[in-house]
Amino acid sequence: MGLASFERPRRRMVAEQLIARGITDARVIEAMRAVPRHLFVDEALAGHAYQDSSLPIGEGQTISQPYMVARMTQLLELKGHERVLEIGTGCGYQTAVLSRLCRRVYSIERLPSLHERARRNLRAARHANVMLKCGDGTLGWEEYAPFDAILAAAGGEGPPEAWLAQLREGGALVMPVGSNGRHVLVRYRRQGGAWCEERFDDCVFVPLVRGG
Ligand code: SAH
Repeated sequence: MGLASFERPRRRMVAEQLIARGITDARVIEAMRAVPRHLFVDEALAGHAYQDSSLPIGEGQTISQPYMVARMTQLLELKGHERVLEIGTGCGYQTAVLSRLCRRVYSIERLPSLHERARRNLRAARHANVMLKCGDGTLGWEEYAPFDAILAAAGGEGPPEAWLAQLREGGALVMPVGSNGRHVLVRYRRQGGAWCEERFDDCVFVPLVRGG
């Protein structure tokens, strides 16, 4: 199949999986329409890239379902000027979507093979406003803090201290919270000295591995 032929499944994915389910942010919709998801998965899976599901990306990890990528991104309410910290680069797809919606993305992946793969994918897609790091994302990225928004693509029992400390006042942190493979999307916002917490969709994510 030629590259242009994926245009159609991508448009259908946006209409049927995103807009029909309540994704309303025009910038998020535009980014999901633009990023070639099939180039981030194995060639053998390219034909499945626009289906309504997560897909394996190796090492027991997965690229999130398109709806979940759009949903988490929409919850960050990005306007374009933000510096965003992402935990769990994986194959780099979510990173590519974020990079079109903010000033700069700082993304951390603990597994070297996926970190390298994301680097190749993002270089091919010419995303110049992305910085990648291989390491333990639970520590955040002190050097570039504070961040305007934080997105975790792996689930845990709650945000590590470092993320809360590295989020600027008014900023949003979105993460799947729960255990045993059952999570709910939670958005935390720092307001004054307090944290406001809102719960959204039920979901299933790979675990956030603490300590490396
Ligand atoms: N957004 C990714 C989804 C990747 S799945 C994509 O579009 O492909 C979640 C990723 O989080 C996995 O690659 C996993 O290795 C990574 N991960 C888990 N715990 C981590 C940690 N403590 N630090 C950094 N990455 C972590």
